[in-house]
Amino acid sequence: MWGAIEHLGRDGRTRGYLRDAWSPADLELRRWFGQEAARRGLDLREDRNGNLWAWWGDPSVRPGVVTGSHLDSVRQGGAFDGPLGVVSAFAALDLLRARDLRPARPLGIACFSDEEGARFGVPCVGSRLLTGILDPDRARALTDDEGDSLAEVLRGAGRDPGALGRDEETLRHVGVFVELHVEQGKDLVHRDAPVGVASAIWPHGRWRFDFHGQANHAGTTRLADRDDPMLPFARTVLHARQAAERGGVVATFGRTRVSPNNANAVPGLVSAWLDARGGDEDAVRTLVAELTEFSGAEVTVESWTPVVDFDAVLRERVAAAAGGAPVLPTGAGHDAGILASAGVPSAMVFVRNPTGISHSPDEHAETADCHTGVAVLAAVLEDLCAS
Ligand SMILES: [Zn+2]
Repeated sequence: MWGAIEHLGRDGRTRGYLRDAWSPADLELRRWFGQEAARRGLDLREDRNGNLWAWWGDPSVRPGVVTGSHLDSVRQGGAFDGPLGVVSAFAALDLLRARDLRPARPLGIACFSDEEGARFGVPCVGSRLLTGILDPDRARALTDDEGDSLAEVLRGAGRDPGALGRDEETLRHVGVFVELHVEQGKDLVHRDAPVGVASAIWPHGRWRFDFHGQANHAGTTRLADRDDPMLPFARTVLHARQAAERGGVVATFGRTRVSPNNANAVPGLVSAWLDARGGDEDAVRTLVAELTEFSGAEVTVESWTPVVDFDAVLRERVAAAAGGAPVLPTGAGHDAGILASAGVPSAMVFVRNPTGISHSPDEHAETADCHTGVAVLAAVLEDLCAS
């Protein structure tokens, strides 16, 4: 399976992945998902929000046990973030069938749409729409760098943007969700464990800072006459670092859009995206309030996810089925967190990442650890499907 998707959306120069939601690479990955489902005789469904579900058994009879992840990537991302969870889901199902297991409950494999938000700025669009956390009108109006709205892009992909929104029927099918994911840190390296189980997801959000100024000639405009928005932006980046250190949180400006974006022009507008997270929700909010005040920019909340504590009973059960795997918190958002915050009992299994690097072509997991992840996922699914 890994060999079949490895090349899709890969930048030949950097080896990083470009798998924007609804891009040709994403559509190709969706087709691959359908083929893997068909090969196993699973019942493939796409819900109203573009999420894919492959069912073994009928979830309308009884809510099922669902596992899976996403297939889109951040820009210049790694191979494992998302696809490892989907490939492991199919592999775990194969393992259960090889053992002749007949699950008492339906077993589903999910692929959530647009988890990373690389194209439209908002992460977990598929699961947020499914659960009603993201307003469908707002989703339809999101635009990409080309100025194309999500509604237009969906229509172009043959989907109905009018159908977006909370989907009770699909939600009813999901009794429990377990997402396997490559670890995006080095906790498991420090604990010398190949897999771990998530305790909680830090509160996190994205804010767009628009710094307005006056575009002008870089040669003929005297310094004193300039209204250059790059300067308050630069001061804000430095201030964010200091404020984050003081507050015990993390803050990142990782994306900017400069207009007109000419080497010989004073910019007229700098838009920059702040990603802020931390174990303490108040500390994150304090940081954003402080930066909003300091920057003088126009600040728009693009997403906010409060702390997610995974279901404690399920977590212990998953940790036990995983052979007593360690339990750890994470600073990364996931579809499992969205489902959990919407009341679906959810859990996560992490697979060790030797360098801790993620959202980069250097993201990695050793094959042996991936196999351990599949075995652990199979054991967890077997336990959850048993009654
Ligand atoms: Zn992911």
